[in-house]
Amino acid sequence: MKVVHTKKGAREIINGWKSKGQTIGFVPTMGYFHKGHLSLMELAKRKADKVVISIFVNPTQFGPNEDYEKYPRDIERDLELARGIGVDMVFAPKKEEMYPEETKTWVQVEEITENLCGRSRPGHFRGVATVVAKLFNIILPDIAVFGQKDFQQIQVIKQMVKDLDFPVKIVMAPIIREKDGLAMSSRNTYLSNEERKSALCLFKALELSKRLVMEEGISEVATLKERIREFIQGFPYTKIDYIFIGDPENLKERERVELPLLVALAVYVGDTRLIDNMLIEG
Ligand code: AMP
Repeated sequence: MKVVHTKKGAREIINGWKSKGQTIGFVPTMGYFHKGHLSLMELAKRKADKVVISIFVNPTQFGPNEDYEKYPRDIERDLELARGIGVDMVFAPKKEEMYPEETKTWVQVEEITENLCGRSRPGHFRGVATVVAKLFNIILPDIAVFGQKDFQQIQVIKQMVKDLDFPVKIVMAPIIREKDGLAMSSRNTYLSNEERKSALCLFKALELSKRLVMEEGISEVATLKERIREFIQGFPYTKIDYIFIGDPENLKERERVELPLLVALAVYVGDTRLIDNMLIEG
């Protein structure tokens, strides 16, 4: 497994593979791996000749009062895990390599960034789209794998790829969960034992939504939302950031339940903001 820290180093290796006609599968990450990240790498491996991952905690997608500084990092452990999967190259640039000077060009995807995390984290998706565009230009992947865990992020990247003609296929990988259902996240490490118990409210609320739609036949989104709100509020240490129930494609809220339906949640458990989502299909 090659580990490179510069754009130049990455391009040399990529050019070598490209000249032999080998395809490249890419998984961008912020590191501190869990099984969710590893499942994306495994999927990329099945779909391309070479697997490249990036490990970069991207400062431009964090707001001024967010957790950029304290975001968990453990590059040595990450490299071990990536090696175990059979990753071919890790691109792990320093901040100065990706942003040598102040950025004046930003990728701003409109409309689908207005709701959900876009509303509670202003500027977040501008940072995500910009860094992913830069990474695509450095790695030149044939396919790139992203997790459904960050559903809105996938839609933003797909829109960017379409609008800006990036020659890359975006693949969505399913959400990997702990045994009890909590979606795996690097941020779960912030939770105390008591908070960890409450964190299960997200997955349980999603399951409840599915039951209410599929079994009880709830047809008003407002009613569904109220039931979910009450349910989550029953768990200690929780504060709801948003409950989104709407169209998975354009990420607009709906008034009436209609399939397919995206239920997406962001909930603070203590000081930790967790997200999760479920697609309810036919
Ligand atoms: P991150 O390091 O949090 O930026 O995540 C890197 C990639 O892993 C993103 O495409 C995420 O959607 C994906 N990911 C994060 N958590 C999970 C999970 N529990 N299951 C599947 N994919 C995930």
